[in-house]
Amino acid sequence: MQNLKLPITIDPYKSAQRRLECQGLFAISEMNRLLAVSEINSEQIEVKFNFDVDELGLVVISGKGSATVNLTCQRCTDAFEYLLEIDFSFSPVKNAEAAEDLPSYYDAIELDENGEVNLRELVEDELILAIPLIPRHDFKDCQSPADSVWGKLPEEHDKPNPFDVLKKLK
Ligand SMILES: [Zn+2]
Repeated sequence: MQNLKLPITIDPYKSAQRRLECQGLFAISEMNRLLAVSEINSEQIEVKFNFDVDELGLVVISGKGSATVNLTCQRCTDAFEYLLEIDFSFSPVKNAEAAEDLPSYYDAIELDENGEVNLRELVEDELILAIPLIPRHDFKDCQSPADSVWGKLPEEHDKPNPFDVLKKLK
């Protein structure tokens, strides 16, 4: 295992020929699309990458990583911590047509104009996909919905109704 500072972009073909394995950190602060959709607790994500050539001769980028996010439970509206785990196997392709020919156990990742893949974007996309669509506690950790909704009035009830003023003028 080589421990390197993770490159942001890399030539997957050269890396696969070398059977490169690398492990390192990406700063979450540089992942603006991820930050736009969720509140991330972790400052960094540690990711391990393996580059290899499979028995079909396809280049494979596989790896794993995890980071902690704050989510709001949609059942009881409490915040809770959730471990986003990613585990991926990509094969680089030049275009969408080539992507259709890939075996289904690989996801396609398009090469950029320099023939490289952007590893940080790959990880960011995987993290976004790992966020549950409807976040919820495990049942055992969740307060019953009645407990949290009861006793909390929606804020609009406290605001004066502008039509009240008009009524007084009549
Ligand atoms: Zn809950």
